[in-house]
Amino acid sequence: MPADLQTPPRPDAQPRTETVPDLALEARGLVKTYRRKKGGGDVKALKGVDLSVPRGSIFGLLGPNGAGKSTMINIFAGLVNKTAGTAKIWGMDIDAEPRNARAAIGVVPQEINMDPFFSPFESLEFQAGFYGVPKAERRTMEILEMVGLADKKDAWVRALSGGMKRRLLVAKALVHSPPILVLDEPTAGVDIELRRQLWENVKRLHEQGTTVVLTTHYLEEAQELCDTIAIINHGEVVACEPTGDLLRRIDTKTLVIHPREPLSAVPDTLAGYDATIRKDGALAIVYRYGQQSVAEIIERAKTGGVGIADLATLEPDLEDVFLRLTYHNPD
Ligand code: ADP
Repeated sequence: MPADLQTPPRPDAQPRTETVPDLALEARGLVKTYRRKKGGGDVKALKGVDLSVPRGSIFGLLGPNGAGKSTMINIFAGLVNKTAGTAKIWGMDIDAEPRNARAAIGVVPQEINMDPFFSPFESLEFQAGFYGVPKAERRTMEILEMVGLADKKDAWVRALSGGMKRRLLVAKALVHSPPILVLDEPTAGVDIELRRQLWENVKRLHEQGTTVVLTTHYLEEAQELCDTIAIINHGEVVACEPTGDLLRRIDTKTLVIHPREPLSAVPDTLAGYDATIRKDGALAIVYRYGQQSVAEIIERAKTGGVGIADLATLEPDLEDVFLRLTYHNPD
């Protein structure tokens, strides 16, 4: 039995297609606390998360390692039990209708754990049988073609390249034609070429009507693929909005001024700017690239009595984005 499916949906557990919900996934007040064995403290992986994934979107769940992304996905996938809150898949509560809810979602796990003695064709047939898809309704060859593995249908899985194995994982998640496909860190550790291929696959599935949710810690990946991005950090969603809006908010750089003399406060001349004094004593001013003038900021700092020993500008990385969205000190 595949490790990712302890409780198979029954053959009759097909997604209810007659009711089409506005939200593909919905979490309300979702809490997950991992109990540590004696000695260690508990880990609050999710701290009361609300999340709405609109039907038809490519939705990015973006956050650094340890943020709670996999925990969230695994609750929807039925692999992790939530501590509190509610979760719905395609409008169905995972507690009230676990089997129907599960049948509406296909999950591509992070790790490649497949039976190496199956061929891709057999692997998909086995998975379809596991989901109770009647033989006449199976789409094995169509799916293999979609992920570019038709010519490898009879190869040993163990003889496939890493990239092909990943694509087979996507194929396995599609056998029961779920309206929602979830990919957990689909391109972590894969090369650029394969990343592009996977992105193309995901875009094609989306064009065909599948709602796609992916977790990633690459801002670039979320930017390239997703129409909506939720940012999760330390078990909390700190932003959730259309990609364009989010990028406009984070389209910033930081000017770092190392002063000749220590500063006791941000000079008044920089009032109205997002300026802070970092722990190392440098003055950090976050500015909107292309909209605010660095020359003017430097001028204002000088007018405010700051002697400049050194200057640098920093591009935003994911951590800056979180800091900006959560309004902590950038130090
Ligand atoms: P992400 O997918 O964003 O990297 P995870 O959901 O895997 O984050 O982890 C969130 C937090 O929960 C981390 O602090 C992680 O160490 C902890 N965690 C995850 N799984 C377990 C587990 N099975 N037991 C204990 N702690 C866990």
